[in-house]
Amino acid sequence: MFRIGQEEISAFTRVVQSKQLFRIGSKNQEVDNFEKELAEKVNVKYALFVTGGTTSLIMGLAGLGIGPGDEVIVPGYTFMASALAVTAVGAIPVIVEVDDTLTIDPEDVERKISPHTKAIMPVDMLGFPCDMDRIMEIAKKHDLKVIEDACQAAGGSYKGKKLGSIGHAGAFSFNYFKIISCGEGGAVLTNDREVFEKAVIQHDGGSTFRNDYLAIGREENGGAENIDYPIYDKYQTPVFAGTQCRQSEIMGAIMREQLKRLDGILGDLRKVKHQMEEELKGTVNLAFLRSNDPGGDCATNIGFLFDNKKLAAQFAAGEGVGGALPINSGRHVYTNWEPIMNKRGACHPAMNPYSMPANQGLNDNYSMDMCPRTLDLLNRTVYIGINPDWSQKEIENKVQSIKDAAKAL
Ligand SMILES: *Cc1c(COP(=O)(O)O)cnc(C)c1O
Repeated sequence: MFRIGQEEISAFTRVVQSKQLFRIGSKNQEVDNFEKELAEKVNVKYALFVTGGTTSLIMGLAGLGIGPGDEVIVPGYTFMASALAVTAVGAIPVIVEVDDTLTIDPEDVERKISPHTKAIMPVDMLGFPCDMDRIMEIAKKHDLKVIEDACQAAGGSYKGKKLGSIGHAGAFSFNYFKIISCGEGGAVLTNDREVFEKAVIQHDGGSTFRNDYLAIGREENGGAENIDYPIYDKYQTPVFAGTQCRQSEIMGAIMREQLKRLDGILGDLRKVKHQMEEELKGTVNLAFLRSNDPGGDCATNIGFLFDNKKLAAQFAAGEGVGGALPINSGRHVYTNWEPIMNKRGACHPAMNPYSMPANQGLNDNYSMDMCPRTLDLLNRTVYIGINPDWSQKEIENKVQSIKDAAKAL
């Protein structure tokens, strides 16, 4: 989270004073409106606001019909939640390499496709877009679904298309560490009505008793203005037993304000990054991390690739640099994913995807060294976080520290 202030306080107060805290039947329709505004911003037909990024991925996978018997390809560098979402629906994550952008390597994706593969989960790590042209081309060729984990990349784009809108489903996170936030939250994005309906039902066990999700009503009635709520009996999908991860009106109201800030935050992040890149161009010993679309990158971070770990570590520790080696993240490298690597995929043993009869023969041959290129690249990369509210002086100091640290190598 970068910016929060009086607008969010007023939004919160508005909801509390109205005593309409529950999204269902709320007169203010904060969550409904947030979903509509988010869908418009990302250019998708449907957005569903849920309690987290992980739950968004789970609802998205459920919506895509992924379950036991299916392999889902995930990169070896991402927050563990990407893989946990796959096990949560009873499927098996197949872990593949990242390339020199530190996003999923399309060539390794293609190598690891098997007759059991059902979906690919590209992850836009640190706001850097994946090679979505290649991913979509591979998915089409092999008849696979694509679910974009854009949890760290709200507002980012790839060749003019918003991240999260390119695959069959997408997911954002609004937890505290993401670009916009209400503390905890997430959203499922899709253009496919069936995927959306299934995600809605999965996220709201009470769906049996209601059918008033606005996005469906809007589509059926040609616009939100024309709807007389509630709408019943409109699901095309037979209602199944879901769970519960609905969002509240308080979170909806806060996220509507955060969404208004998104373009400003990204614009300022990109301005700072661009200035840093211009000033650092040609610096000795310094090579920028490659991006699949530098213009679409969220610019929350600037990355550098070095020849070896020693140089990377020395640079990162330079005075005022504030760099971090992704290999040291402790949670974003597949070798950190203890429950996955040890195949403890659920609380109840019979619900553990790794021992389910439907998953026997699937590719869960994990080992600590199964993605050597990923480990090598993570060892040699340094990320530096960018702040959209840095002053010119702070930017200049940061650039100088980076130059000094590079020269000292
Ligand atoms: C944050 C994050 C998630 C999970 O989001 P939560 O809101 O914490 O559940 C999933 N994937 C990636 C890549 C993330 O960075």
